[in-house]
Amino acid sequence: MLVAELNGGRIDAFSAERGPTYNCPKCRGEVVLKKGRKIVHHFAHKPPTDCTWATGETRAHMEAKILVSNALKVRGLRAEVEFIVNTLPGDRRADVMAWSPKGLQIAFELQHTSIGLDEIERRASSYASAGIAQIWIPFLKSNVWDEGVPRHGGWFIERYSPRTFERWVHGFNGKNGMWMYDPKDKAFWLGRLAGHQSYVEETTWYSEGGEENYGGGFWKYSKRFKELTLEGPYGAEDLLIKVSSRRAFSTSGYNWPAARIANLVPA
Ligand SMILES: [Zn+2]
Repeated sequence: MLVAELNGGRIDAFSAERGPTYNCPKCRGEVVLKKGRKIVHHFAHKPPTDCTWATGETRAHMEAKILVSNALKVRGLRAEVEFIVNTLPGDRRADVMAWSPKGLQIAFELQHTSIGLDEIERRASSYASAGIAQIWIPFLKSNVWDEGVPRHGGWFIERYSPRTFERWVHGFNGKNGMWMYDPKDKAFWLGRLAGHQSYVEETTWYSEGGEENYGGGFWKYSKRFKELTLEGPYGAEDLLIKVSSRRAFSTSGYNWPAARIANLVPA
């Protein structure tokens, strides 16, 4: 984690010094400051612990939170990593919270790991009810670089199997597309999913009476695969935030709440 408690206040690992006793904002257990030239400065629980905030954090996720919050601060905006929103279900931390000059809150959810549909829908509804604008940014998996090809100055993956939450995010953002983060180059890409068609080969066979039958010979849309087009890369400093609103919508598989959504726009 990047933020701990000290004397009842919040302190981030970058500003913290060795010496004082720091505590986890959730379980109040003691956490140790980890600082070094080659590591992302952070706090770690003293073992043993059963705190849910002690597990599952990757270096790439911590780096992404720092990158986004720094880019916002450079623009003069207030930004906080791991900001606690008391009404959020589950883990009550927004990865990064920003404040627009007019005071509108904007939550960044940097999604390194998969998240269940129920959980993402509950979280999104909670942000929406609180009037907080939100943006969900899935991390790109390294296989998109192996399986894709350059196209129109960007990148194209013909057979991409989106994770369920990515389908949700894409639908949530509507025509804006879906911003994705490449942890290796620390860059952002604007992704768009489109139907992937595969050709069903034509076949001929004869029935018992000697009658000739035909099948196949057509294109059909795949349920599992989509085409993914990536536009980019963009550095965090190249992107501006634009907030808009969307209406509620449900299909048989997905529920999207009416919400304020934040979109990134190349500067
Ligand atoms: Zn804890």
